[in-house]
Amino acid sequence: MKLKEFLDSSYTAYHATANACEILREEGFTQLILGDSWHLERGGSYFVTRNGSSVVAFCVGQNNVFNLAVSHTDSPSLKIKGNRLIESDGLLRLNTEKYGGGLLYSYFDRPMKVAGRVLVQSSDGVEQQLVVSDYDIVIPSLAIHLNRQSNETPPLNLQTDLIPLFGQGEADLYASLTDEHVLDADLYVVPATEAFESGVHGEFLSSARIDNLTSVYASLYALVDAEPQDIALVACLDNEETGSGTRQGAPSFLRQVLDSIAGALEFTRTDIAYAAENGMVLSVDNGHAVHPAHPEKHDPLYKCRMNGGIVIKHHVNYATDGLSAAIVKRLLDDLQLPYQDLYNNSELSGGSTLGLVTARELGMKTCDIGIAQLAMHSACETCGVEDIDVMQRCLTAFLSATIAGVNSITVK
Ligand SMILES: [Zn+2]
Repeated sequence: MKLKEFLDSSYTAYHATANACEILREEGFTQLILGDSWHLERGGSYFVTRNGSSVVAFCVGQNNVFNLAVSHTDSPSLKIKGNRLIESDGLLRLNTEKYGGGLLYSYFDRPMKVAGRVLVQSSDGVEQQLVVSDYDIVIPSLAIHLNRQSNETPPLNLQTDLIPLFGQGEADLYASLTDEHVLDADLYVVPATEAFESGVHGEFLSSARIDNLTSVYASLYALVDAEPQDIALVACLDNEETGSGTRQGAPSFLRQVLDSIAGALEFTRTDIAYAAENGMVLSVDNGHAVHPAHPEKHDPLYKCRMNGGIVIKHHVNYATDGLSAAIVKRLLDDLQLPYQDLYNNSELSGGSTLGLVTARELGMKTCDIGIAQLAMHSACETCGVEDIDVMQRCLTAFLSATIAGVNSITVK
């Protein structure tokens, strides 16, 4: 699957996971179910999903060591509250609340879709259906003549301003998406802007959901290309934008997948400790490229640029330390791939991601890396085209490597 198709059709974590599963099936990975007894073979390739919104794919090498690349399938958006519509002045609007920390002004006056999953009644219980509206909707802004302060970033009220225009006349939200009887749903209003190249040389990629679907895409194809010696895993996980505290979020799902692998390979307690202690996690999520209008928002000495290679992220919000950064730099030096260190302006805390979450849960060495991008959490973000390929090559090498060996050299 091409990156553009992946970005354009992965409207929600459910769609990103469905696309990931399609890629993995096409590449010969075998699907496993959590709770079944697993029969794993050395050299085999597998994947497992939870909730239809998270997926972990893995290849079983000869060494009982975990090499793990984690990223997230969800992106900020508006979540629809129930099926009731707001009626006022002859118009119908969708009742929404914020999901994650979106750059809200970017949601106005652009094509949006309703997407997610509906849970419908089936003969023997409940069935999940992925849905995307075949219509576009918009969130109209207030005209400049009615609000002369519009260009001065007025405060936006989530319950009045960020309420999408759904239509006129008679309508039913669920009925607009499926013919089935819907019991409940997880539906979002998401940007529908298609990915496009930008810049005079086509050197940038602009799209919705660059954070973090570029990482998901690079990780999946890195695992496809890898020749793992260790147990190489790629985890694409839901709900990072809201703290990962769900059953499909990083700590819960990853713990159960690693335990299931350990059980299937008949690991002893010592083997499990060895696999974590000698393995490593790369937490893959994008970092802020220097904004040309606001260089003062960045560290005075460490500004990252698009098409400048792998960003190694250093801050207390990340799990990177000197050792994990050094291991990644050693790997990238061997590959002759470019990289750049990212430190925050000391007055700004920046964002956070999965690194600390997985480090706390798994106790593994962890480095937070990503590619540099602008307009993070906007309905249309921008990154460097070359960086995505560099990330894929970096991850292929990481998933193929024996980090235990690199580590033992480094810490002596
Ligand atoms: Zn992210």
